Amino acid sequence: MATSRVWRIHPHPRPRESLSSWLIRISAAKGTKHHSLIEQLVPGLQFWTRDGDLIAPPELLEALAERTDTPLACANGTALRAYEGVLDERISGDSQSSMVTPLGVRHRIRKAHGQQFCPECLADPDPYLRLTWRLRLFPVCTRHGSVLRDACPTCDAPYQPHRAGFRRCAACGVDLSSIPRDQADSRMIQLQYHNERVLDGQAVTWPYLAGSHPIAFFGLQLALFRAITSPRWGNRLRMGLVQDLGPLDFDRRGDSNSVRALTSRGAYHAMRAVELLLRGWPFMMVGICGETQSWATWIVPEDRKLQVPFVLRDALDTYLRPGSAHSRICDGGEQ
Ligand SMILES: [Zn+2]
Ligand SMILES: [Zn+2]
Repeated sequence: MATSRVWRIHPHPRPRESLSSWLIRISAAKGTKHHSLIEQLVPGLQFWTRDGDLIAPPELLEALAERTDTPLACANGTALRAYEGVLDERISGDSQSSMVTPLGVRHRIRKAHGQQFCPECLADPDPYLRLTWRLRLFPVCTRHGSVLRDACPTCDAPYQPHRAGFRRCAACGVDLSSIPRDQADSRMIQLQYHNERVLDGQAVTWPYLAGSHPIAFFGLQLALFRAITSPRWGNRLRMGLVQDLGPLDFDRRGDSNSVRALTSRGAYHAMRAVELLLRGWPFMMVGICGETQSWATWIVPEDRKLQVPFVLRDALDTYLRPGSAHSRICDGGEQ
């Protein structure tokens, strides 16, 4: 009987828990060091020196499912790969999806700030990490209505719970569960709440985009996110957004212009703008572009080989290219 290999102490994954979080909790419950636990499961496997939630080796998930008496499908749900085919075409360690925030793992140290956290969730009696805390388009905690953090407020070190536990900064020891909350905007929370349900397997029901394929729906949000935050693109568009949303702070680390350099707070402001542009799709975007005289190339530059979701390309071609319906409206020409 396989049950003979089940550990006496074997916590199961919590809702939307990440693989690394599950392993940290099992180690704590069993009183085992993290690397010893991996040795017991898959001898020789390098897990903590890589982005474990992203690589999530199938043999590790199988061993964990067996040793903790957890259905394999449930164990597989702790890997970022679980969102492949929903959030993006491919989510793997081979090619970093723009949907996933990078950790910059070197040895056991993390150089990048891709592991986000909610201080209030960490204050729970039995805290754990949500898989969505690794996703670009998910910068708030919908339980607490607050913006996620991606660094220690005292020393700015990346969050490294595998080194110091869930609540402590691994660099300076400060209690991360007692950081003041940063209230998120309610419309942004609504969008993310909807998006989380789509990750869980529900259909897209966002107004005017209901029934879209999840990959197209998330691809649209990422394309708008890129356009809004790019320093080279969309300056005029950004001016139009500020009129509706107030100041937008696309906070970055380092001097890279990539979306990967955005902090959680920067991503939150980008998603506030994405939520605005999605309203009454595509007419809020068309209206703001009309007011600011922004054309399609402000949203998606033609010289870049970016994948543009059909739903966005269609709106741009219909309304925001010279000779399109929108340009005729703007010129006061024939309708
Ligand atoms: Zn929370
Ligand atoms: Zn610190």
